Amino acid sequence: MKITDVEVIGLRVPLANQKCEWGEDAVIVKIYTDEGIIGIGETDSSPFVIKAIIETPSSHDASVGLKELLMGENPLDIERLWSKMYNGSSYMGRRGAGIHAISAIDLALWDIAGKFYNVPVYQLLGGKFRDEIAAYGTFIPVDRPEENRTIAAKMLEDGYKSVKFGGGKFGFNEKYDVAVVSEIRDEIGEDITLQIDLVGRWKTYRHALHMCQLLEKYNLNWVEEPVPADDMISYSKLARTGHTKIAGGEALTTRYEFSHFLEIGKPDIVQPDITRCGGITEMRKISELAKLNGTQLVPHGFSTGILNAATVQFLAAFESGDLMEFSQSTSPLFKDLVVNPIQCINGHVKVPDLPGLGIELNERVISKYQIF
Ligand SMILES: [Mg+2]
Repeated sequence: MKITDVEVIGLRVPLANQKCEWGEDAVIVKIYTDEGIIGIGETDSSPFVIKAIIETPSSHDASVGLKELLMGENPLDIERLWSKMYNGSSYMGRRGAGIHAISAIDLALWDIAGKFYNVPVYQLLGGKFRDEIAAYGTFIPVDRPEENRTIAAKMLEDGYKSVKFGGGKFGFNEKYDVAVVSEIRDEIGEDITLQIDLVGRWKTYRHALHMCQLLEKYNLNWVEEPVPADDMISYSKLARTGHTKIAGGEALTTRYEFSHFLEIGKPDIVQPDITRCGGITEMRKISELAKLNGTQLVPHGFSTGILNAATVQFLAAFESGDLMEFSQSTSPLFKDLVVNPIQCINGHVKVPDLPGLGIELNERVISKYQIF
């Protein structure tokens, strides 16, 4: 089998001059083969940048577009192709968007392999440990603290036993932060697990420590990205205080960055995003690193149904893969891009048994929002 084409599709719901949030833009990769099998992948990154990294003509041996590296190759050689892409793009890649693009391609290659062998991806990863996975729901809070009660109550009605929020105005103001956590904890009661996500906004170790102490009475399950992703020293100081579990890592790529994060930052939970960290191939290596450090791994996931499908296949085959994130986005790219999306019912998702990643794309949704 040979790769005959790599197609990059950009999608966007709002106009180009308007902000996207809640997964309102997306970039999909389709890999075509001479046997008629098509693999699907995505990355949660900047669509135009990803298109450039995949389609750019080569400059020299360490600055080659990913498509050029893949044409004519056997798509089943996933590990070898990962290395070929990593080395061949090392001048403009190695981290960040370069690895995001490789992640999208890696997911598509696993999808092809599953379809070729007619098994779900979890089978190729060594088999599934479980038939369903617990999921926690993530939402972006609205501005008025008390109005978040309605959102949280609806999630409980939908069966969620674990809830996380972050973004919006949360993280910039001490009084506001306490008010939002207080309203939501009061609404959901003590039996529901509650996490908060600061997307780095508490900025310094000292302020983050102060906030963790203030919020201790609300019994938070974890505090996510309290400080910026590169501030490893603040992570390590917070970890030492032991106030609450510290989570992070959605911005990191490759086993190299996670190794550094685990060693220096000493987080309680690492959160690689399967569409950003290097795909399924790299996620497996990161999961072994997490295990070696006695650290929990709960993947980040806030994009389309392609991400959810890939995350579920990986978690099913990962011994400690018993929790996933489930976006509460109402974007059509989250809800409708995949014809048969993973559903969260009573706080759990079922592991599908279809070949590959087990997804079918809705071509009508693609043509409606396609920007390239
Ligand atoms: Mg986060």
